[in-house]
Amino acid sequence: MSRQSFGKASSLGFVLQWEHDHATSSVSASRGWLSATVADVEVWPFGGPGTESWPWIELLEFFGRYWRYIEFEVGGDPLGLDVQPDLLRTAAEQRWRSLSEEDSDREEEALLVYLRSHNLAAAFRGASAPALYIVRRNVDTAQVTADGVNVELPWGEVRDTLTALGAAIAARLEPVREPRSENARAQWASRSPTEASLRLALAMGRSLEDARRVEAVCEDKSREIELWPFAVAARMAPERMSVEALAALMVELCRPDHPQVSSRFLELRANAQRIRGTAESQGLRRYEVGQAVARWLRHVFGTGPELRFDIDQALSELGIEIRAVSVDEPAVDALCAFGPSRPPVVVLNQRGVHASSPNGRRATLAHELYHLLVDLGTTLPYAEANSVRAPRFIEQRARAFAAELLLPRVVAEQTAAAVAVGQLTAETRRLSAHYGASRELVTLQLYNARERASADAQREIESEYAALRLQGD
Ligand SMILES: [Zn+2]
Repeated sequence: MSRQSFGKASSLGFVLQWEHDHATSSVSASRGWLSATVADVEVWPFGGPGTESWPWIELLEFFGRYWRYIEFEVGGDPLGLDVQPDLLRTAAEQRWRSLSEEDSDREEEALLVYLRSHNLAAAFRGASAPALYIVRRNVDTAQVTADGVNVELPWGEVRDTLTALGAAIAARLEPVREPRSENARAQWASRSPTEASLRLALAMGRSLEDARRVEAVCEDKSREIELWPFAVAARMAPERMSVEALAALMVELCRPDHPQVSSRFLELRANAQRIRGTAESQGLRRYEVGQAVARWLRHVFGTGPELRFDIDQALSELGIEIRAVSVDEPAVDALCAFGPSRPPVVVLNQRGVHASSPNGRRATLAHELYHLLVDLGTTLPYAEANSVRAPRFIEQRARAFAAELLLPRVVAEQTAAAVAVGQLTAETRRLSAHYGASRELVTLQLYNARERASADAQREIESEYAALRLQGD
């Protein structure tokens, strides 16, 4: 029989060949060979005649069950580990060593469900095929990962390829009058939920009931945009958060007051992304990338290293709205969003552990500014929550950016080099007052610059840093 191809071998491609000319059962009709290729690497070598064939109804059943997760579970793994899917398990096991058994069991279950629903190889019953993960990174991009290959592709292309493949299997089963075939085809036909609440539930990682509550609150405020692309912020918030608290945050995040995005913001965003790209291509480390963007932004606003950066003024000039809310969840300091029909916004939780103090608020705004300029719509979906499950590598850049923007490294280096023994506390206080940076942030920057200090001062900086860490920083 002839071979059918779907997609492109250079990105994501499949080649399918049926075994029998005519067949009447679900299994025999869908039996054949299928190879999958990612970035020109053959990852599923289901060769062809002479090798063992497989009933591909199993793949159609997999799509029927899990397509909705592939399509709407946007923005990465449920633990915020931020590594490619085939490395998640190992990264999670490291993390679980420091957690209670109850917490690690709960996380393990969430991770297993996540891995199963995004791994096409989980379709096979009783056979082990190499893993092939499809994860939608954001609204426009999918990450496709198999043994030794990890690529980002346009989501539309990945969706069309998988749709064409599933449709070919469904068409092949069309004449088969068996419950299994009919069920598989019916599930395939309804694979993608059209109901807005269900899409929101999948994107939030919460129940349908919760999604409806959030929707109801947002509708009361006459929103006119689709909610689910912003719901990733809810997935980054602690699981324990009440649906009322989530709704209070989501409504501010999603409800635009004015539809205009300032051209200054778009211009700076394009430049910030270029700076990030250059820094990454030079092989800089993650925190150095964040620092490079911060140094450039200080320059753009004409704020020399000797001056305090006016973060409120910068946000205002860029047309970034700040909305303050008061939600009883200290682990969430802020959220931000920027997407189609959603101008940039920061939602600040006045009860957040950092955002509740003036200097912590400045650092939180700086952190969100980085996401708005660099990450949203690229490495992150259209929203972010500064909270426990935000992707950690993306967070490292944003944190380093915020630290550098508020207290430049060069100032920390000069201070570290000059500080006399016994004067560290006074110096920290002076820098904190002048730059509007918290004691923690100043200590962190001094610690990063400690090699400039004398041996005695270095020890003082290290012990101050350790003391603050012990306080739970
Ligand atoms: Zn963040």
